[in-house]
Amino acid sequence: LLGALGVVVPARRFPFAFSRLARALAEVAQVSPHLSPPSPPPLPPPVEVAAPIQAVDPPPDLAREANLRDFQGAYRESLEDPEAFWGGFARTFAWEKPWDRVYDPEARAWFPGGRTNAALNALDRHLPERAQQVALLTLDGEGNLGKWTYRELHDLSARLAGVLRGLGVGPGDRVALYLPTGLEAALSLLALARIGAVHVALPVGLGPEALRQRLLTSGARLLIAADGHYRRGQLVPLRPVVESALFGLDLPVLWHARGTTEFLERATEGKPQEPLPVPASHPLFVLYTSGSTGTPKGVVHGHGGYMVGVAWALRHLFDLKPGEVFHTTADLFWVVGHSFGLYAPLFLGGTSLLLEDRPDHPSPAAFYERLRRLGVDLLLTSPTFLRTLRRHGEARPTGLRLVGSVGEALAPEVWTWTRENLAWPLDNWWQTELGAPALATPLTLPAKPGYVGVPLPGVEARVVDGAGNVLPPGEKGHLVLLRAGPAQMVGLLGGESPWRGGLYWTGDLAAMDEEGYFRILGRGDEVIKVGDARLGTAEVEAALLTHPQVAEAAAIGVPGEEGEEVAVFVVLRKEVPEELKPLLAEKLKAHLLRHLGPLPPPRVFFAEGLPRTRSGKILRRLLKAELLGMDPGDLSGLEEEYGGGKTA
Ligand code: ATP
Ligand code: MG
Repeated sequence: LLGALGVVVPARRFPFAFSRLARALAEVAQVSPHLSPPSPPPLPPPVEVAAPIQAVDPPPDLAREANLRDFQGAYRESLEDPEAFWGGFARTFAWEKPWDRVYDPEARAWFPGGRTNAALNALDRHLPERAQQVALLTLDGEGNLGKWTYRELHDLSARLAGVLRGLGVGPGDRVALYLPTGLEAALSLLALARIGAVHVALPVGLGPEALRQRLLTSGARLLIAADGHYRRGQLVPLRPVVESALFGLDLPVLWHARGTTEFLERATEGKPQEPLPVPASHPLFVLYTSGSTGTPKGVVHGHGGYMVGVAWALRHLFDLKPGEVFHTTADLFWVVGHSFGLYAPLFLGGTSLLLEDRPDHPSPAAFYERLRRLGVDLLLTSPTFLRTLRRHGEARPTGLRLVGSVGEALAPEVWTWTRENLAWPLDNWWQTELGAPALATPLTLPAKPGYVGVPLPGVEARVVDGAGNVLPPGEKGHLVLLRAGPAQMVGLLGGESPWRGGLYWTGDLAAMDEEGYFRILGRGDEVIKVGDARLGTAEVEAALLTHPQVAEAAAIGVPGEEGEEVAVFVVLRKEVPEELKPLLAEKLKAHLLRHLGPLPPPRVFFAEGLPRTRSGKILRRLLKAELLGMDPGDLSGLEEEYGGGKTA
């Protein structure tokens, strides 16, 4: 019975469903529903990391033609002579006033003294050469394809900036956005950047209470909102959410009425504004983290360092070549959308495809066909989406040259599927706070599936114990950075700085091998303490994904007789008759023990879908709360589809 229990709680009915379910589960699983939440992870003792993984060479033409051929040379120079390395790249952009120095380590400030503007560099700078080139392709939820040249984006956003000025928005003012991914959102971000105002993009789908909280804590003085957005082909009204969020607040709203061109018409009435040069660390935007581990944090990014950092990564890591089309499946309101859906492609004079609806709507086949039809060369997506595609079987041919994966660990099985079905996988690790990739496997180095790769230029990383002592290769510990790249945040809205004792504490659990490749094992505070061993959630999930019947898996630690036990939630690739599930659960247990070594037998639950953040990450703390009858904490980041049994 235990193994056959399906754990699916409709999120909307959560408060009621949850206590009933928790009681039932606690009875069956013989765990007390009143257990206190586990304390933060103690110092992880030495544990052998699984057997060395086979390195795979990138396709020779990819490596030969990479924009960055001498990775090691670049890495060395970035640390030994940051002035020359980052200064040289930064000089390819337009600055009103050059910087005094590239980096001030005391202030952790990039390009202090320099003045520039992100919109100037995204648009105006390109007009002499690229006015007629398509900067953005937009595909809205009704299937309308828009092609917007650098000239059009420039003129429209400069005029929209005039409208915003007319509404009293000035430099440093925060303006919130509640808009789906698309032209209007892109124009709003660029118009705000242009006048030195600060954009605060909030995910559409955020409920009224969470929206209200973000509007209050971000100090927004205007809201730009759409009255609807498309999800899986359906127009979902947003006006009631916005109106309820704003109840009693004195916050003006600039509406984008779906199905009309009012917003664009209004924009053209503004007086065109010139880009305002601002100090390099002047805030460009506030963006909230995914909320995987708790309440989302408001992260502030600036104009100068961010521009240099994200553009460097798109050219030298993701390898964008002139004339190529870049696409990220990430929504614009997530950092991946900001950095690589919008800013980096425009900083480099490239073309980016923005998609409103789910990438696999109406089907995975439509996704492949869209990539081919629109000539997408480079894709940046999430492991979640790759697992969804893999679940549906073989891919159709696309013209992709490489596939970046970010947001969660890319399990070796999914790495291999991606390589065989889509294109060369490029795993990259970073966080909202860092703005751009910090660890990755560049095209000129062999990849090790399961390992994200090595520190990128500007970044020094270590695995340490809880006191900050560096651990030898192979041992699991906290991933910290000694230095971060130029795209790192300029501040936080409240909350604690990740810098402590000279180290940037990422909150992730990792291990490094002898060659300096890092393996991300999961979140530090989700580590599963089994006896003396410490298991990262990613290790357990990767092991499950090697089983042919497993599409998705989430692992959590639950109180057991001695320390913790592993509990896993499994989504199957194909439905299995109820009566066969206990047998399959036994097989999965045996499979896990074969991969992970001797453990108390894991508990296996089958689920139709897993709870996710809007950025696509498995929300393990909710599974744990459901199972143990605990308070799940802030769920504002929870994807609204959870509970419908969908996994996409
Ligand atoms: P919160 O900080 O609110 O808990 P979050 O950390 O999920 O949310 P993001 O900044 O969107 O918010 O995500 C960063 C985290 O995503 C990293 O700390 C890491 O745990 C995970 N991550 C990102 N890329 C990778 C990767 N390539 N491999 C493994 N994990 C990754
Ligand atoms: Mg985080």
